[in-house]
Amino acid sequence: MADYIYTMEIRLTPDQQKGANLVQEVARTAGMNLYLTGGAVRDIISGFPIRDLDFTVQGNPHKLQKELERSGAVIAAADEELKTLFLQLPGNVRAEISMARTERYDKVGKPPVVAPATIIEDLRRRDFTINAMALSLNAGSRGLLMDPFNGAADIEAKLIRVLHNYAFVEDPSRLIRATRFAARFHWPLEERTQARFESAKENKYIEHISDKAIGQEIEQLAYEDDPLHIVRVLEKEDWLKVLSAHWTTAKVDTNGLSQLMKTRQQMNELGYQPDPAPAVMYFLTSRLTDKEIADMRKLIPRKTLVEAWKDLEDNAKDLARKLTGKESATPSRTWQVLSSARPEMILFLAVTARQQAVLQKIKNFFTKWRQVQQKIPLPEMTELHITPQLPEYPKIAHDVFLLLLDGKLRSRTETLKFLKPLAPPPPPPPPPPPAKRGRAAKAAAAAAGTPAAETGKKKGKGAAAPVAAAPPSPAAKPDAKGKTTTPPPKPSPKKAAAPKPAPKPTPVAHKAKPAKKKH
Ligand code: ATP
Repeated sequence: MADYIYTMEIRLTPDQQKGANLVQEVARTAGMNLYLTGGAVRDIISGFPIRDLDFTVQGNPHKLQKELERSGAVIAAADEELKTLFLQLPGNVRAEISMARTERYDKVGKPPVVAPATIIEDLRRRDFTINAMALSLNAGSRGLLMDPFNGAADIEAKLIRVLHNYAFVEDPSRLIRATRFAARFHWPLEERTQARFESAKENKYIEHISDKAIGQEIEQLAYEDDPLHIVRVLEKEDWLKVLSAHWTTAKVDTNGLSQLMKTRQQMNELGYQPDPAPAVMYFLTSRLTDKEIADMRKLIPRKTLVEAWKDLEDNAKDLARKLTGKESATPSRTWQVLSSARPEMILFLAVTARQQAVLQKIKNFFTKWRQVQQKIPLPEMTELHITPQLPEYPKIAHDVFLLLLDGKLRSRTETLKFLKPLAPPPPPPPPPPPAKRGRAAKAAAAAAGTPAAETGKKKGKGAAAPVAAAPPSPAAKPDAKGKTTTPPPKPSPKKAAAPKPAPKPTPVAHKAKPAKKKH
């Protein structure tokens, strides 16, 4: 069996890696076998971005709940029937932990009878071969791939294939899923799967889709990288109205949505990772009625997504108020307001704000002001021994940055005047060279007209030459290399953090047409 651990480690983002380690540790402590399954394995092998982490445990994941929470996971929702926990792991990592189970479909349109199972049995109840693989995360077999339906070959062939002939009858939401995956990856359905798909469509199996599956599918749209494309394809197949009776692309704020995705991309390039899902839902449903939106929200399993979507407009208003009020009277104060705002809110406001002042401030935050970071007078600071080794360095650098932002430090003289009182005392002189002994010492003493013994006694007492100021250590050197390799600033600097040069100042704030409907 192939060992995929290396592939997994290089394909997961650092936050996903940490999240996977967290879940592994909790499952290991509880003595439960844990596997990475579903879309995460598919994306690891295919090279597509890994959107979320699907775990399967042999046993009941609810037993892990307390320990997961203690380790920093947030339980976004729980499904008691299917024994599934929906998690938000640190760093905005979405995850699910399900119990390994079998599903028996006794009647069309009725939920399956579920029973605990082994991981291999669990893989047999899945939708497509590409989603029916598992990677062991257990000691002794970590990284082993279980692929009973040869999903890896279908990934290679770029094909979406159901596991058996009854796949769409058993669970018609797989019709929507097939369309969604085909649209996302631009992969076709395998020939026989396509035939089953057509026949299921003709026979209107979709009418038997459960509310739970509808909620799940709506939620998935929020996390698509190109939601508009997916929604268009779903509409073409007549699936969009299955998710909500009057949903069409005409009800979507397409302009807002595309601005959102562009702005999100620009923020990503600057090192911010806002979760766009609540705003995606906002724009996807912009022109639906309040009732239609409320019905949709009831079905979505991940309640944290629903809450964030509901609160979006109010939170954006709060931020806009702060940006136009006293709190943001100067560039430095505005910088601080935006630095401590949630990236999701900046993202949403950048796309929806109507006030020019708000848009301009967000734009400055991502462009002009970021460039001011490069004006931090590193040579002057180094001369004064204000280097990154100093514990106060981040605060001093941040203060200088804020003064520069406000135009309060305009010349070298002003900067030095500000920095001098903050400089540490000069470093102590290096110890003198060791005193010479024996004949060499005597000779040296004779040459200097001093008895050798006396020279020995005096060692270290003013014998050394005056010490010049020590050159800055390489680490302290603010050279060009340091500038380009510094990562972009992390978006949570509540505390004063050393401002770092932005790698790519890209215009971010765009004004999109505000959505007609507010909810
Ligand atoms: P995405 O990239 O959209 O998150 P995903 O494959 O991870 O894709 P999820 O909806 O998160 O999709 O489901 C996780 C896994 O659960 C799937 O990969 C699949 O193995 C299984 N699954 C989900 N829905 C179904 C279904 N209706 N029938 C069978 N298996 C399903």
